[in-house]
Amino acid sequence: MSVRLAHGIGEPPADQPVAAVVALGANLGSRRETLAAAVERLRHLPLTADVRVSAPIETVAVTLTGEDADAPRYLNAVALLHTRLAPATLLRELHRIEADHGRVRRERWGDRTLDLDLIAYGDARIDEPHLTVPHPRAHEREFVLAPWNEIDPDAEIPGRGRVDALLAALRGGTL
Ligand code: ADP
Ligand code: MG
Repeated sequence: MSVRLAHGIGEPPADQPVAAVVALGANLGSRRETLAAAVERLRHLPLTADVRVSAPIETVAVTLTGEDADAPRYLNAVALLHTRLAPATLLRELHRIEADHGRVRRERWGDRTLDLDLIAYGDARIDEPHLTVPHPRAHEREFVLAPWNEIDPDAEIPGRGRVDALLAALRGGTL
């Protein structure tokens, strides 16, 4: 017998809230409004509380071929939340929010109205076909590390180290 939970998912929620990190990015449309609306959606997720969000930063688009100064620039932010949603359920919710903002998956790393990535889920290490946590490129992305460091100066990426040290290394120095 399969149990369907009230919020319509298959995985059981965690017993205790888990601190999760979500990266937000938008480079098409009304970027600021889109990010604000996405944060509102995060605040209304089931089994989720304490949503804190960084200030948005503007960054150059990164495509499969590297930085693209000709592509529309991104607004990026990072949100911290406490959730009992299982990681795959949380990612599904993030994809639903993306879809509701008109995101069409055409090319990987292509322009998008809204991109929501699950960067970390407590100290979980997950390697599944559709879900890798911590996000495999978070440690090398200044547009993730800088806003994350702003709202959680003691943050660590499981298996990678402290966010402030990773950020300093990326910027060409040490802490
Ligand atoms: P990207 O964010 O790298 O530009 P997409 O947003 O199109 O690419 O996501 C591509 C796929 O990455 C999604 O189908 C999703 O299942 C998968 N994925 C794996 N791990 C994660 C994660 N931690 N956060 C977000 N997406 C992930
Ligand atoms: Mg994504």
